[in-house]
Amino acid sequence: MNLSLIRKTHKYQFLLFLFIFLFVAVMDCYCLMQRPLIHKVKRGETLWEIAVKYNVPLNKLIEANKLKNINKLKINQSLIIPINEINFSTDSSAKTLERTGVYYRLKKGDTLWDISRKYKVSIEKITAENNIISPTRLKVGEVLFIPMSAKNLDRMSYLDRMKLEIRKQIMLPKNVKMRRWQYIVIHHSATDSGSAKSFNYYHKYKRHMTNGLAYDFVIDNGHGGPDGKLEIGSRWRRQIQGGHVKSDYYNNYGIGICLVGNFTRYAPTEKQFNKLVALVNVLQDMCSIPLSRVVGHGGIKKEYTECPGRLFPMRRLKSNLRF
Ligand SMILES: [Zn+2]
Repeated sequence: MNLSLIRKTHKYQFLLFLFIFLFVAVMDCYCLMQRPLIHKVKRGETLWEIAVKYNVPLNKLIEANKLKNINKLKINQSLIIPINEINFSTDSSAKTLERTGVYYRLKKGDTLWDISRKYKVSIEKITAENNIISPTRLKVGEVLFIPMSAKNLDRMSYLDRMKLEIRKQIMLPKNVKMRRWQYIVIHHSATDSGSAKSFNYYHKYKRHMTNGLAYDFVIDNGHGGPDGKLEIGSRWRRQIQGGHVKSDYYNNYGIGICLVGNFTRYAPTEKQFNKLVALVNVLQDMCSIPLSRVVGHGGIKKEYTECPGRLFPMRRLKSNLRF
């Protein structure tokens, strides 16, 4: 072999090596860019929380994971976080130009009327925003953009934050299994003041109920406990039957919520009302309770009571709940 041929071979070997090296390096970068980010769902975590955490639009998160029921995440479920969708923009001027609103994924049985009522936006605005030609032909799973005023969005995110907080507060101890709740029953205390503690004393020692406080939850009004404070009863913690109605059936299958106050004479405070809306929303989600089964005490047959008082805003409550 002559010298020049050896040099040539070395040159080719070197070039081949360089080529392989560059190829591997580029592929590695490419894979890193493409490799999806995985999030393992923790106990009590909601999709909304995860979307906020990674700053990913909720609908992209739903699409990336082909989620059918966004309210039912499993613990340790792996979710793909579509990182290419992460919005890195921190420019506040750009944000003000963005449309305000929320994304909503259509569930079976949803109608535009339901959605418009829930988000307090006209059907016309929703159809225009989403180029809907035939409102009766909506597909389950389709994601709509619901335009909302900044004020309504603020209230919505305020409620969402409150719901997250409540979800954590009312989480059950690991060894306690959720009862098969069917109803949510709303009461007033018919007193101007009070708290879980004072009602517990009354139910235990005056009414001789061995399990004490007859309700699962009490919402204070500023007289006896801070205005709007949610108190969680031991019946909820232990998931045992209530003692808030005469009917055994409703005590067994109805979650009892009591708002402190006498609503035959005045309405609940705004803070109490907002806390109630958030709590009932969370409970409806947790226990799959439809709107028709959110009732006032007096709405139950044969209970013969005015509770929760004629000034309790039942219609306003229902217009703020999920279907
Ligand atoms: Zn009652």
